[in-house]
Amino acid sequence: MEDFQLLIDLHKRAKRQGPGGDTETKKILGLAMIDPTMPLKIADIGSGTGTSAMLLARLLNAQITAVDFLPDFLDVLEANFKNKGLTERLSTLNCSMDDLPFNDEEYDLIWSEGAIYNIGFEKGVRDWNRFLKTGGLLIVSEITWLTDSRPSELQKYWENEYPEIDTASSKIAVLEKNGYSPIGYFVLPEHCWLDNYYRPMQSSFAEFLNRNDNSEEAQAIVNAEKNEIALYEKYKAYYGYGVYIARKIR
Ligand code: SAH
Repeated sequence: MEDFQLLIDLHKRAKRQGPGGDTETKKILGLAMIDPTMPLKIADIGSGTGTSAMLLARLLNAQITAVDFLPDFLDVLEANFKNKGLTERLSTLNCSMDDLPFNDEEYDLIWSEGAIYNIGFEKGVRDWNRFLKTGGLLIVSEITWLTDSRPSELQKYWENEYPEIDTASSKIAVLEKNGYSPIGYFVLPEHCWLDNYYRPMQSSFAEFLNRNDNSEEAQAIVNAEKNEIALYEKYKAYYGYGVYIARKIR
């Protein structure tokens, strides 16, 4: 199996493909002061298998377009919506987040959790701006430095993985520069990483390796995930997912 297929195989059975939580999703909606009766058009960009998209569909009066470049994830998302009788709230779009076919001012809310880094935060917030109505909301989570300095081992790791990692004040400045007014920021608590993402992943490793004949490629993927988890456990005081809520003003 290709490495990519292996990654899909590891992650598509999970509730989440990145850190997050239902309580935190509700907290975001509160901070954003969204009226749950107001009809909204929402794009969830990099939706994965759609745990948050489903919660948005349940809590809001929303039509949701779930975008992901992996059809396998969208298949799971569609099945989840169907199971909960939410299909009429959903459209799916299998395309890349840097090539979205949306119209200008089409959406009231762009939601993107643990995904914008794939094209880079600055490019994402700049390019997606035109799809939002003026007054519409951008809600994204982004890897963020939690302190103004950090151990050099960690700094080096992230400079290699995602050079755009930065502090919240810098990320907020990027939002302001690109036509948004920031209205909320908080850091996802550790349980969003550990209980909701890493622990379920760890308990799926044995079956994943079995399904894939314990291949070297599958072992390499497990080892890479284990390293990522160890890094988080060691350095979680220094980085986390920031949730940024901002209103489009121009
Ligand atoms: N929002 C989900 C998934 C986060 S993982 C959650 O929080 O659980 C990041 C998601 O972005 C994955 O589903 C991945 O398939 C998708 N993705 C990565 N690069 C992409 C791209 N260029 N275009 C569209 N989707 C992409």
